Amino acid sequence: MVQTSESESRKLLGALRDAMAEDSAGQARLDKIVQLTAGSMRSQVCSIYLFRDSETLELCATEGLNAAAVHQTRMRIGEGLVGRVARFNRIINTADAPSAKGFRFMPETGEEIYSSFLGVPIQRLGDSLGVLVVQSKEAREFSADEIYALEVVAMVLAEMTELGAFVGDGDALSARHQKPVTFQGRSGQEGVAEGVVYLHEPRVVVTNPIADDPEVEQNRLEDALDRLRVSVDQMLADARSGDAEQLEVLEAYRLFAHSKGWRRRMEEDIQRGLSAEAAVEKEQSTARSRIGQSKDAYLRERLHDLDDLSNRLLRLLTGQGSDTGAEVPHNPILVARNIGPGELLDYGRNLRGIVLEEGSVGSHAAIVARALAIPLVIHAKGIVTEALNGDLIMVDGDQGTVHLRPDEGVQKAVQDKIAMMRQAADRYVELRDKPAQAKCGTVVELLMNAGLMANLPSLASSGAEGVGLFRTELQFLSQNKMPKRGELVAQYTRVMDAAEGLKVVFRTLDIGSDKVLPYMAPQDEPNPAMGWRAIRVGLDKPGILRMQLQALLRATAGQELSVMFPFVAQYDEFHGAKAELERAKAREAKLGHTPPRNIRVGAMLETPSLAFAPNQFFKEVDFLSIGGNDLKQFFFAADRENERVRKRYDTLNTSFLNFLEQIVERARTSNTQLSFCGEDAGRPLEAACFAALGIHTLSMRPASIAPVKHLIRRIDLKKLKLVIDNARNEGHQSVRGPVLEWVRLNS
Ligand code: PEP
Ligand code: MG
Repeated sequence: MVQTSESESRKLLGALRDAMAEDSAGQARLDKIVQLTAGSMRSQVCSIYLFRDSETLELCATEGLNAAAVHQTRMRIGEGLVGRVARFNRIINTADAPSAKGFRFMPETGEEIYSSFLGVPIQRLGDSLGVLVVQSKEAREFSADEIYALEVVAMVLAEMTELGAFVGDGDALSARHQKPVTFQGRSGQEGVAEGVVYLHEPRVVVTNPIADDPEVEQNRLEDALDRLRVSVDQMLADARSGDAEQLEVLEAYRLFAHSKGWRRRMEEDIQRGLSAEAAVEKEQSTARSRIGQSKDAYLRERLHDLDDLSNRLLRLLTGQGSDTGAEVPHNPILVARNIGPGELLDYGRNLRGIVLEEGSVGSHAAIVARALAIPLVIHAKGIVTEALNGDLIMVDGDQGTVHLRPDEGVQKAVQDKIAMMRQAADRYVELRDKPAQAKCGTVVELLMNAGLMANLPSLASSGAEGVGLFRTELQFLSQNKMPKRGELVAQYTRVMDAAEGLKVVFRTLDIGSDKVLPYMAPQDEPNPAMGWRAIRVGLDKPGILRMQLQALLRATAGQELSVMFPFVAQYDEFHGAKAELERAKAREAKLGHTPPRNIRVGAMLETPSLAFAPNQFFKEVDFLSIGGNDLKQFFFAADRENERVRKRYDTLNTSFLNFLEQIVERARTSNTQLSFCGEDAGRPLEAACFAALGIHTLSMRPASIAPVKHLIRRIDLKKLKLVIDNARNEGHQSVRGPVLEWVRLNS
């Protein structure tokens, strides 16, 4: 059996480095690599297959196979042994390739005479770039040492690929970061934007994967690990008083930083000829491909920790900070794997758009992006690897599509869409100070939803008559520690000042479900949307609710305070919350603070149960606001975060409208003010239907005020009600079709 010793693999790496240093074109370099590798591994064949596009691999260089097949032989990912290595990101090592599962014969390559096959993925941090293969006539399995040596060559190749070392004519790699790519993700916030890529955390670039002197590298690694351990210990010391979850993560970091196994593997990599940073990255890549596909959420979470720690170590070794000095462009579109709400708030309104590889519609980042009205696309898989700082990028938050380095045709189409939206916005400016009065004379009150100070300038520009829903939890979510009462008083005072006398409805904290405070221990619940959230938390652990109510009372001294409680499912919850308010009022009076001039106490109607509450509840509550996002998910038993089921049920479904109408009727007979503040209130057709059914106060995103007003002013709500009634009588499942048709003809 052929043994490739450590010094052998160092020799190969040394030769590869010399080959790289030569002033030759991309193809010549690839040819040299396959030639050297085949020789060193004592195999007759060595070939490099690289991705031509995300689905197709191309033979880009070979020693031993038919030279005419280079740049001709192509296969789809998953096809043949090479395609399978790429698809599963796994090594294939077989003594009898033709009998191996998935084997596909490529006659043009002349490979039929080679029995043994060893293929390893060329990957960088879990992203597949291609496949490196050696083959030999002798029927044998390759040894662990040989596999290792080939993996190291693959890793160097991946590193060089990133550095553009192979850029040259006809080279699949040269095109990698130049071609237009479209990503189909999901919409996190509507809107269309054009700008240039600004990477949240640019990749650390390893410029020297191969090293001369293992001892020097060993010392560098040692030194960096020491510094890493000190910084983790420091983080732990700083967090001692923090919450349990943060401590748990840092403890995991500490375990990794002190892990002998991790260090030993990196030392072995160095002994075989890698530089310290290349050794860190190799172990990071290996862990990613091993754990990344695991279904175990805990393991994946730990991978995240290891990734973070490896990146810190790489930054220590290379001196590259996350701030690489890249200038923030004037029209930045932030590209990131994921981002926290606090970091996003740091970038603030300057961002034109945001694209995330991960994230979810209900993530904190999405909530903040929505509050800032920045188009957001989530689940754009692969964008972090593809995008480079400065690339042109277009984000269509309506469709969940991202065009990276778009060609002229796509640029034009997106620019047309942006221009059309601007024109519509210009047309809306003149509507700003006009009432939302329908042709029948009915006036609809249009309010806006907010949650951050940054939203309040929109109050004047959108034409909203006040804030119908101030989601107080956004301020809690965007900080990494519990705000103090004084801070809350200051925040709410600023909100009241910015509103300049217009109504503001504060909703007390709605945490739980998808909104998890970073500084509170997360609840391990099977179904958090129906779990311990909102007023349930407020009543069971009243500390925060009390502090919040006190802060609201102080911030609205001498003015009107409108406060509502989220997720009230039964009468006694409202009672309990109101009792807390009464107690807070009494305490404030005792302390001699000026009370608000008037207090209105409301509840959100977000669970079907509340619609059937006793009459006394409807009489006692000053106002009710329908939280359609939650109400709809519970009415249809369809998770609002699960696009597949959410879209299945139309808001204009007859059953849902019948239900809303019952709520309108109950509110009317008990003289309770009623509004609707879920996302659907911001969709013109839905808004018009709600108004036609008798909901005359709607609260929505600021950007929706003008389009909703525009439609309402052009139609007769009484006539629309007849259209809805007609459609219901005819047995339509949804009234959308008939309503749309009528609006088209009558507006
Ligand atoms: C709602 O459920 O409709 C609502 C406005 O509350 P949130 O979206 O914050 O849950
Ligand atoms: Mg809700």
